[in-house]
Amino acid sequence: MNDASVVGVDELESKGLAASFGVPVPRGVRVSQVEEVSRAVAGLQPPFVVKLLSRTPIHKSDVGGVKVGLNSSADVVAAIQQMTDEPRIPSGIVSGYLIEEMAASGQELIVGAKVDPSFGPMIMVGAGGIYVHVLDDVAVRVCPVTAADALEMLQELRIAPMIFGARGQDPVDVGGLVDAIVRIGGENGLIMTHQSEISELDINPLIVGRDGACAVDVRVVPT
Ligand code: ADP
Ligand code: MG
Repeated sequence: MNDASVVGVDELESKGLAASFGVPVPRGVRVSQVEEVSRAVAGLQPPFVVKLLSRTPIHKSDVGGVKVGLNSSADVVAAIQQMTDEPRIPSGIVSGYLIEEMAASGQELIVGAKVDPSFGPMIMVGAGGIYVHVLDDVAVRVCPVTAADALEMLQELRIAPMIFGARGQDPVDVGGLVDAIVRIGGENGLIMTHQSEISELDINPLIVGRDGACAVDVRVVPT
């Protein structure tokens, strides 16, 4: 997963696949140059996010490849120009720029799926954002998973109170979250139906708020 030599499909292509299974993703448009920006943002709702698109797996935010909270076409153009001038981004790895809408704020989760040589398709759900490395708070199942399995996975997490709403916290849209998990790891889900073409799928983060879940970063690694 962290091997930069592994070439995968880029974020927008990965999001297209997730969306075709009904996993909500932000509305977004690919551009290759700043001249395309005004037309691209005309169909989107601000605030916008600009992200570097690449088939080489990289942590975009580590290299200055993610700019959030942009309110105008001019802000988007400036963000792309900054990325073009960014020495940490080798131009050879850029497959374009993604302009997308910002997801509503919420709990950041990670959803991963992979095809294990012995167990076959597997799915994991856990705390996303900075908690991924700090807490190692994940639940894992062999696919296919049902809605009841997905709910049980969420209940196993240490961050369960932040999902189900305890101590005065508002609950997130648990139904929407369970649905997204089943669309990835369920019987007719993405990983079950694509197990010969996909070795790995990473959604980090899946942001889930009161009004649903949104996969804001998706990477598919083909076999
Ligand atoms: P990276 O390659 O660094 O993981 P991400 O696409 O995950 O890049 O973006 C980094 C962070 O920016 C995310 O964890 C999320 O907090 C925020 N972010 C990215 N895209 C969006 C979006 N469309 N809406 C809201 N927040 C976003
Ligand atoms: Mg990410």
